[in-house]
Amino acid sequence: MPSTLLLGKLAFVTGAGSGIGRAVAIRFAQEGATVIAADRNFQQAEETTKKLGSTHMPIEVDVTNGDNIKSVLEEAINRYKRPPSTIVNCAGITRDAFILKMEDSDFDLVLNVNLKGTYLVMKHAAQRMIDYKLGGSMINISSVTARMGNMGQCNYAPSKAAVDCLSRVASKEFARYGIRVNTVVPGFINTPMTHTVPDKVKDMITANVALRRFGEPEEISDTIAFLASDKSEYITGTSIEVSGGLA
Ligand code: NAP
Repeated sequence: MPSTLLLGKLAFVTGAGSGIGRAVAIRFAQEGATVIAADRNFQQAEETTKKLGSTHMPIEVDVTNGDNIKSVLEEAINRYKRPPSTIVNCAGITRDAFILKMEDSDFDLVLNVNLKGTYLVMKHAAQRMIDYKLGGSMINISSVTARMGNMGQCNYAPSKAAVDCLSRVASKEFARYGIRVNTVVPGFINTPMTHTVPDKVKDMITANVALRRFGEPEEISDTIAFLASDKSEYITGTSIEVSGGLA
C-alpha cells in the first residue's frame, strides 16, 4: 500500500536541488505530497522533480530576495490554485574561515542566506497561507554547530542559532493562524556541503558521534516528514536534534 502521510499537501521546499532539500522533496512525494522544488540552481531543482513526476514543479528562487520569493509563490498559486501550506527551508550555505581571516562579505552572505532567507520565505509564505485561510507547517533547519560553536564557522554557527530562535518567535506569532513552526537540528550529514571536509576532520567528528557515522539526508527527511504531517499536530516552537548522538 502506498504511504499517505502527506497526502494532499502542497509543499514548498527550498534548497531542493541538493542534499537534504532533495531528500525531503523525494520523501514528501513518496508520502503523497505535491512538491514545489525551489533552488537558486534551476537545473538541479529540475533534476529533483524529474525523479518525482510532472505534477511536481521545479522553480528557481533566491531566498535572499523578497520580491523573487513573492513572484515564485504567485507562480505556484497560478499553477495549483492555492499556496503551499507546508514550507521547508533547506537552502543554506557555508563560507568557513577563522574570525581573524573572515571576509566581512562572507559573514554577511551566510547570514543573508541562512537567516534572512529563512525569515523572508516564512514571512511571504505565511502571508499567503493566511490570505487563503490555510493552516500549515513550517520546518526550518538549524545545525548542531550552533550549540558546539564550531571553530571556523563564526558566520554559519550563529546564523543557525538564530534560525532556531526565529522559528520559536514565528511559532508564537503564527499559532493563531493554525501554522506550526519547528526546527530540525541535523548533526553531520553526507551531502555536498560536507563533501569538502577533510577525512582527518571527518574521523575526529565521527569519534564524537555515538552511532559512529555521518547521517544520510534521508534520515533528516524522515523527521521533517513527521513534522510536516498531521501526526505532529500538537508540536510547535520546538527543535528536534538528529545527530546520531553527537556529544
Ligand atoms: P547542500 O547540499 O549544499 O544544499 C543546499 C542547497 O541550497 C543547494 O542546492 C544550494 O545551491 C541552495 N542554495 C544556496 N543558497 C541559496 C539561495 N540563496 N536561494 C536558494 N537556494 C540556495 O546542503 P545540505 O547539506 O543539503 O544543507 C541543507 C540545509 O541543512 C542547510 O541549511 C544546511 O546549513 C543544513 N545543515 C546541513 C548539515 C550537513 O551536515 N550537511 C548539517 C546541519 C545543517 P548552491 O549549490 O548553488 O549553493
